[in-house]
Amino acid sequence: MQVYEKRRDIENHVAVLQRENKTIGFVPTMGALHNGHLALVRRALQENDYVVVSIFVNPTQFNNADDLVKYPRTIEADVTLLEGLSSEIIVFVPTPTEVYGEKMISTKYDFDGLEHEMEGKFRPGHFDGVGTVLNKLFTIVSPNNAYFGEKDFQQLQIVKKLVEIEKMSVKIIGCPIYREETGLALSSRNKRLTEQQLEESPLIYKVLKQVKNDFGIKSANKLGEWVSEQFKDNKELKLEYFEIAKVSNLKSIKRKQKDLKYRAFIAVFAGEIRLIDNIALN
Ligand code: AMP
Repeated sequence: MQVYEKRRDIENHVAVLQRENKTIGFVPTMGALHNGHLALVRRALQENDYVVVSIFVNPTQFNNADDLVKYPRTIEADVTLLEGLSSEIIVFVPTPTEVYGEKMISTKYDFDGLEHEMEGKFRPGHFDGVGTVLNKLFTIVSPNNAYFGEKDFQQLQIVKKLVEIEKMSVKIIGCPIYREETGLALSSRNKRLTEQQLEESPLIYKVLKQVKNDFGIKSANKLGEWVSEQFKDNKELKLEYFEIAKVSNLKSIKRKQKDLKYRAFIAVFAGEIRLIDNIALN
């Protein structure tokens, strides 16, 4: 398995593969790999000749400096995990300068308003950072297909929009959320949870499942009130937002309409660690 740090090197390797008409799948990650990431890589391996996995903790998408510093970094273990999966994987582990050059700034994007909802409200500048780094990585890797988790559903919708805006030919493929047996969605940040926080964490998915169950019989407003109530007295978990939103534009709703697709979205703080999750409602 090849591991590259320089963009020129991976660009050359990809060019050779493309001359041989090989297809390239791409899984961008920030590392501290877990089974959720690996599920994406496995899917990409099934559908492409080669798979590029990037490991890059992108500074411009962090709105909280402390979160960036404390973000788990386990490069050696990550590379070993990928080696165990397949020899058709190419790993790209660039430095910030390699990706950004000397000026680490993000482009201001207009994602048709998708960027102003939910995560956009609570993490200013986050999606500009995501859009900027993915535009750069897509240019370097020039993949046929790129794989993203529905765990970050808003990001997935925004990436589809980004590809439209930048007129890129990569196909964006969404993959289901991978969970612990307890229901907790896997996340690199879970590594930082205390025992007590972990013990309480299944509440997040439990609440989402109940919302899905009650979606046909209760109003969005009532469900929102019920969710707040579930977290009110919890010592470990603090609700940041809960929203029921249209899949098409991610705008939150008060009343549902027939024939539209909806999802419930939640963000919760366990101490200083922010956890997000979501579920399809219909
Ligand atoms: P990250 O390293 O957190 O930036 O995630 C890299 C990719 O893995 C993104 O497309 C995420 O949506 C996806 N991902 C992270 N956690 C999960 C999970 N539990 N299930 C499915 N995909 C995930």
